[in-house]
Amino acid sequence: MSDVIHLLPDSVANQIAAGEVIQRPASVIKELVENAIDAEATKIQIIVKGAGRTSIQIIDNGKGMSETDARMAFERHATSKITQASDLFHLTTMGFRGEALASIAAVAQVEVRTKQAQNELGVLIKIAGSKIERQESVSCSNGTSFLVKNLFFNVPARRKFLKSDDAEMRHIIAEVQRIVLVNPQIEFQLFNGDECIYDLPTSNERQRIVAVFGKKTRTITQQLVQIEASTELVSIFGFVGKPEFATKNANQFFFVNGRYMRHPYFHKSVMLAYEQLLQPNENPNYFIFMKVNPEAIDVNIHPTKTEIKFQDEREIFTILMVCVKEALGKFNVTPSIDFNTEGLIDMPVFPADHPIVPPTVKINHDYNPFKTSAATTQKPIRQDWEELYKGFLNEKESDINETPKQPQPLFQDTEGTSLTFFQYKNQYIFTAVKSGLMVIDQQRAIQRILFEELLNQIENQQSVSQKLLFPEVLELDAEDVIAFNQIKDKITLLGFDFEPFGKQTYSINGVPALLANESNIIEILMNLIADTKENHQFATEWKNMLALRLAKSSVKTTLAPLCQTEMSHLIDQLFACKNPNLTADGKKIVSIISLEELEKRF
Ligand code: ADP
Ligand code: MG
Repeated sequence: MSDVIHLLPDSVANQIAAGEVIQRPASVIKELVENAIDAEATKIQIIVKGAGRTSIQIIDNGKGMSETDARMAFERHATSKITQASDLFHLTTMGFRGEALASIAAVAQVEVRTKQAQNELGVLIKIAGSKIERQESVSCSNGTSFLVKNLFFNVPARRKFLKSDDAEMRHIIAEVQRIVLVNPQIEFQLFNGDECIYDLPTSNERQRIVAVFGKKTRTITQQLVQIEASTELVSIFGFVGKPEFATKNANQFFFVNGRYMRHPYFHKSVMLAYEQLLQPNENPNYFIFMKVNPEAIDVNIHPTKTEIKFQDEREIFTILMVCVKEALGKFNVTPSIDFNTEGLIDMPVFPADHPIVPPTVKINHDYNPFKTSAATTQKPIRQDWEELYKGFLNEKESDINETPKQPQPLFQDTEGTSLTFFQYKNQYIFTAVKSGLMVIDQQRAIQRILFEELLNQIENQQSVSQKLLFPEVLELDAEDVIAFNQIKDKITLLGFDFEPFGKQTYSINGVPALLANESNIIEILMNLIADTKENHQFATEWKNMLALRLAKSSVKTTLAPLCQTEMSHLIDQLFACKNPNLTADGKKIVSIISLEELEKRF
């Protein structure tokens, strides 16, 4: 039998390698922009068409490549950034694997124009599916311009795997955010077709955060507190959100040595600092920039370099947590960061004879953010028990003093003419049924009723809009605008009334009548947008999704005392629902404690 093993041709090997580095248009953008940063560009333009499927163009004003280098750059393991393995421990560049260009050229049609400042002419290279198609001298400006067309044209399975344009565009925006936030000194522009999504001038970290996210949150200046820590192991700088501004859809970013990273362990450390300051399902914003000795991290463990191993992970965990906790503890006394006056020196004018008093900062050392809310607002359970018990005693006493009454059954059987309900902690309703003692989760019951009502309205398109006396303003960031556009028409049918108000801003003039009493309309909409981003079956499931979100949002305040008639009405409504047993997201509404179960307890 003849030998069967052979080496794969480079083009095939590159295609396979591409699978790891290039998953979607956003990955191409990441790699090319990182190269432009490594080439010391001060201005980088990103122009995508068809959410990157049709083309991606990255134009930089960096140092460019010589003719030979431009050609070499597309070879696998071709890099100018390291020459020996030990260089891996002193990385100051974004790239070093020498894989990106080879990978991109293996799965797309690529044109590069590049020129170094000292040369008259630049070079143009066209390459597709790893094959060089053309190379010639051209006149072009200093720097490099990459054009990547028809990504995955030769890997149909991959191309098919791409998501909708909206979803791919969101990936692109997310990727761009990760780069621009940590490179505020570089000017960036991002275009989707003719539409300018970001136009970011040179600035500092704070101003960059505002330029990227300020649209959504006008008041971002008041929402963030600065953190800072400088130790031998790590220096930390950044901003964390005050707990009251936490949302479902938070912006959370870690960077180390100028590179975005995912770091679930450090995330835990930040969340620990917020312990007891957040409502369930709420997340704080954070933008945290770390600097460590390059020798103390390993960037090499992941092909896209987003997972990074730290030598002193545990120590940094603690430093980070303390630093965030401290900032949160003091935020109520430090003045909020004013992004608008950033860079200006604040010089107070005093009369010449006015004695100069050194400034003092008042810090409330007793203030402990980790105590307040939970401890003061919630009564300890024992008290409630005592009260219940007291009621029971009083009844006994009055029984003794008054003439004996006919025993009154606390719960009547379903066969009786009227049901009696008992509400516990404004949260559960008890009533007797044939099979036992029925317990109903009040909040979930209301959610189910509202859900079916809303769904019905959506399906029949018969909802009523109610004008808002004071229109609210919805400000979105670029990524959210895309999701919002997906749902805008649909929620208009429901009774929302929007009016464009600048580029990424809408004025909300009307809301569905069912939600007219809600004070958190903006929050409801932001949650809807977050749902849209998460839900990949949006196209088919939007009706359920909308109804569920609106129902959920509007039952926040449903832990209220109810009288007998209200409870009876609620239960009637619940059992008129298609599915009274479960909420739309599958949580139990009704539970029955059987007689046997009760008997076992005694
Ligand atoms: P890596 O970035 O890991 O070195 P790449 O495949 O991304 O590998 O790039 C290969 C080489 O091509 C780089 O090392 C660099 O020398 C050169 N290069 C790529 N993009 C640019 C650019 N925009 N400007 C100048 N040189 C570039
Ligand atoms: Mg690179």
